[in-house]
Amino acid sequence: MEKLYYDMHIHSALSPCGDNDMTPNNIVNMSIIKGLDIIAVTDHNSCGNVEAVMKAADGKILVVPGMEIETSEEIHVVSYFPDLESALKTEAVVKDNLPFIENNTEIYGNQYFMDENDEITGEEKSLLVSATQLDLYSVVRLVKDNGGVPVPAHIDRSSYSVLSNLGFLPEDLGVTAVEITPMRRKFFENDYLKYNILSNSDAHYLENISECEFFIEIIDKNIKEVLKYLCKIE
Ligand SMILES: [Zn+2]
Ligand SMILES: [Zn+2]
Repeated sequence: MEKLYYDMHIHSALSPCGDNDMTPNNIVNMSIIKGLDIIAVTDHNSCGNVEAVMKAADGKILVVPGMEIETSEEIHVVSYFPDLESALKTEAVVKDNLPFIENNTEIYGNQYFMDENDEITGEEKSLLVSATQLDLYSVVRLVKDNGGVPVPAHIDRSSYSVLSNLGFLPEDLGVTAVEITPMRRKFFENDYLKYNILSNSDAHYLENISECEFFIEIIDKNIKEVLKYLCKIE
C-alpha cells in the first residue's frame, strides 16, 4: 500500500471566485512544492480547465478529473471521473441544466479558460456559481452513470451542503464518500465512519492548497485506484 497525500478540491481561475493566479502550472507546481501526490481541480459546474491541468502536470503529480456540481437544492457535490472524456460528458449535461445568467466580472470575477502554458484561451460568459436544475439524486445518478464518483462536499458547512440544506445525509442516496472540512473533521467524522472521508482545501488561492496532512492508502498511484478507494464499502 502506498500512502498518498492529496488535495482533491481545488478551484482554478475558471471559477469566478478563484484567484486569477490559479493557473494550471501554478496549481501543479504549488501542489508539488507542498509534497502532494494527488490533486483534483474541481471548478463550479465546469471541467473547462481540467485538460490543461492534466497536461501541465505531465505525470509529475496525479490529476483526477473533477468538477463541483451545484444541485437545484444548492448543495455542492464534488465529483471525480475516470478520464477526461467522462468528465466532459457529465459537464455537457450540467451545462444544459445551468440557467444562463451573464457573469458580472466586477462582482464575481473572471472565469478564464487556460491552456497548459497558462495562456488564456477564452472566458466563460455564463455565471458558473449558480444552482443547476438537477436535484441531488439526479446529480448522483448522472455522475455514476458516467463512471464517476459523487461526493457531497463540505457537509459540515452552514451553506451549500447536504446537512445545511436537507438536515441529514439520505441513506438511500447511494454515495460512498463524503467531504468534511479539515477544521471540523474531528468533530464530525465519528458520525460518518461508514463513508470514506475526504478532507480537502477547497482552495481558491494558491497559498491555501493543502499541506501534506490527509492521505489515502492505495495499491498503485492511478486514477482508477483512487476512484476504487472512494467507492469501497466496509
Ligand atoms: Zn463548495
Ligand atoms: Zn469548492
